[in-house]
Amino acid sequence: MHPELPFNPAHMFIAGQWIASESALPLNDPSTDTPICMIARASTQNVDKAVQAAHSALSGAWGKATAVERGRILTRLGQLVLEHVDILAELEARDVGKPLTQARADAIALARYCEFYGGAADKIHGQTIPYLDGYTVYSMREPHGVTGHIVPWNYPMQIIGRSVGAALAMGNACVLKPAEDACLTALYFTWLADQAGLPAGALNTLPGLGSEAGAALAAHPGIQHLSFTGSVATGSAVQIAAGASVVPVTLELGGKSPQIVFEDADLDAALPFLVNAGLQNAGQTCSASSRILVHRTLFDGVARRMSDAYRAKRIGPALDDPDIGPLINAKQKARVQEFLDRAHDLPLLAQSEIPDSPGHFVPASLFGPVPPDHSLAQDEIFGPVQVIIPFDTEEDALKIANGTDYGLVASIWTRDGARQMRLAKQIRSGQVFINNYGAGGGVELPFGGIGKSGHGREKGFEALYGFSTLKTVAAFHG
Ligand code: NAD
Repeated sequence: MHPELPFNPAHMFIAGQWIASESALPLNDPSTDTPICMIARASTQNVDKAVQAAHSALSGAWGKATAVERGRILTRLGQLVLEHVDILAELEARDVGKPLTQARADAIALARYCEFYGGAADKIHGQTIPYLDGYTVYSMREPHGVTGHIVPWNYPMQIIGRSVGAALAMGNACVLKPAEDACLTALYFTWLADQAGLPAGALNTLPGLGSEAGAALAAHPGIQHLSFTGSVATGSAVQIAAGASVVPVTLELGGKSPQIVFEDADLDAALPFLVNAGLQNAGQTCSASSRILVHRTLFDGVARRMSDAYRAKRIGPALDDPDIGPLINAKQKARVQEFLDRAHDLPLLAQSEIPDSPGHFVPASLFGPVPPDHSLAQDEIFGPVQVIIPFDTEEDALKIANGTDYGLVASIWTRDGARQMRLAKQIRSGQVFINNYGAGGGVELPFGGIGKSGHGREKGFEALYGFSTLKTVAAFHG
């Protein structure tokens, strides 16, 4: 395979060793629909071994490492990621079909997570709590123990950085199950972590099927926290499985995130965000902005300008570094096509060209005006499709923005400060951006949803609280 890897991509990493699995799965390049290599198909027994290895790490060198030492390993790992950005970007481009520039940005974000959590590892403090006479009471943060990480294919590097990075900073030992559709950067990151001096068993990485390795990890009684990013249906199943052992779960399940454009918005500033927040990674982004709510007086102008931007988008193979790459696989392409078929009754404003290729390409498609209750305005499509929904009043806009099952990200484009503050309070969403969207990736910014977007927070310092548990100590000394 190209590029040459310093490990066998068909192996898993358990207890500090690269080991073969009993059977293997093919990994495909979505830009060409051709095989890249074989990957491991971890079994229930492999998962069990990985969980045991993680427990051993906690009673060995990793469990004894101080917060400073954990931070140094993560900081070293961040440096190594930066030194290997080109190869990580190329692997992600081949594996996910992500255009090289975006894949490179993800690799840099992975380094940033390691730097951030490396620096934060020794900065999480407990409290002393005033209590009854004769007592000293204090609290301290402790790792959960063994944490499970089930990661999807759309942003492997970013999602591993935010969940494994924070878990390791707090002293947990991790079992990572990357997606069967994209796991090369997960394996490469694991190899780098070993090079950075992470003790054996602190990070165990097992590619495999969701229904086998993923389900085995979610139901394993030996894990003490589970972090899942992916679909609502799988997230719900994972929560139920983990619930049998009363294991806390963080779920990040996507959304139908709106951008609201008022009459007084700076349209020149808004336009790139309106389009790119929907089309980045071919729309396969949990925080994709798939609904554009515009004041009715602006509809024609916004529709025209967004349509021009759509027609200018280049779609092509990831290694050619186009604006938009292919979808991950044939199943995802069929899913998006089904939504496009369902849109036959909607005005199609613009559609970009796709290459004549066996890759999993679909045209970027912009619809509007779209009724807020239409399936295209309600359901997560996970493809390069956006809808424009006109509104008349602020109350209308708020009702439409809050009118789906999701609540992950929202943005408000207006120069009116009072309106900014009012809506930021009233919008039901984990993040609200004012006159921007996404804030450049936001390693430092707590991220997560409400409703069917999930629960729990990752990123920023907040993740360190999620990946730890609080102990209160009350000492009576008279
Ligand atoms: P999925 O939720 O089934 O898979 C995500 C991860 O969960 C993968 O690692 C997979 O192996 C694992 N998994 C699957 N079944 C499992 C199970 N029973 N127990 C434990 N782990 C399991 O997602 P998908 O099938 O790849 O994509 C389907 C849809 O999910 C997409 O069309 C999109 O709408 C949504 N999705 C959302 C995100 C996100 O970032 N929120 C990411 C990927 C997919």
